[in-house]
Amino acid sequence: MASYYKYPIIRLKEAYIPTSKSYTFISGDSINRECIKALKETLGQKEQAIVFLPTRGNFKYLYCPSCGETHKCPFCSVGMALHRNHRHLRCHYCGYTEPIAQSCSQCGYAPLSSERIGTKEAIELINEEFPDARTAQFDKDSITTPKKLDTALSQLANKEIDILVGTQMLSKGHDYPDITLSIIMGLDYMLGLADYRAKERAISLLFQIAGRCGRTKDAMVYIQSSHNHFFEPFLGDYELFLKDELEFRRIAVYPPFVSMARVVIAHAKPDTAERQLKDTLERLKRYNDIEIIGEGKAPIEKIANRYRYHILLRSKSKKALLGALHSIAKRGIEIDMDPVDFS
Ligand SMILES: [Zn+2]
Ligand SMILES: [Zn+2]
Repeated sequence: MASYYKYPIIRLKEAYIPTSKSYTFISGDSINRECIKALKETLGQKEQAIVFLPTRGNFKYLYCPSCGETHKCPFCSVGMALHRNHRHLRCHYCGYTEPIAQSCSQCGYAPLSSERIGTKEAIELINEEFPDARTAQFDKDSITTPKKLDTALSQLANKEIDILVGTQMLSKGHDYPDITLSIIMGLDYMLGLADYRAKERAISLLFQIAGRCGRTKDAMVYIQSSHNHFFEPFLGDYELFLKDELEFRRIAVYPPFVSMARVVIAHAKPDTAERQLKDTLERLKRYNDIEIIGEGKAPIEKIANRYRYHILLRSKSKKALLGALHSIAKRGIEIDMDPVDFS
């Protein structure tokens, strides 16, 4: 998104090998009957499939198993994370909290869920259906060395693997001719993450995973999501998404229209940490051209016995932001420009 905003764009006119892809939206959040049917068809033709599941982050999100909606902060348009111990939902941007909802605010469905399956469970479910199929796990838990990566990729190339189940690692530009099915799970989870880039991340993953199949033959892409109305218009045209999303960022005042920074204050004594937070806020308030979006306890309140607080800032002027940050820099204060991680 940032590059699209900053740089000129040149598009290739066509693919090197023109193939067509069919997109099918399916419901649910597990390996269900529709996935099994698609896998069966692919295996029957002696072709290969990949199954994608997103890596689960530090936080749980409450989502609706019926419509796929994640509860969003009314002020920041990002997903609110579940803090089970404190029995509330919290926005990691502005600190806004809400009691845990019992039913979906969009469709009324109850109960809401926070559990989702991982690569291991997905493989187990596939193996139960297809005991003869050769499956492999492709994620950070199983691919721990460059050698293991090489082995897995050469097995895939030699067609010693029928179904590869993995996480974000699958999205990299691997090019194998016989993959004719991509099943993409968990996009609704990606859309609900506490990150203003959630839509960008979900849709770029969709394009990347879909791009792993149909390199030389026509292929099928199964997308497990209840947000088909969001994805469908962009399937053939990601530039349309970029234009649309740029408008959202402009209105919601997110990068690339502003610069953001996160300040993390950590101290072994909770009182000291809290006092440092107050001092830092006082200093920052002297600057007119920066805005304090949120402040308070960090989502992970304690790491290595140090109590953590954070402040989220934004400004139309990167220079002004850097100036203000410079004035608060000292030991025990961590500054993160254009933060990606809000934990
Ligand atoms: Zn719902
Ligand atoms: Zn918020």
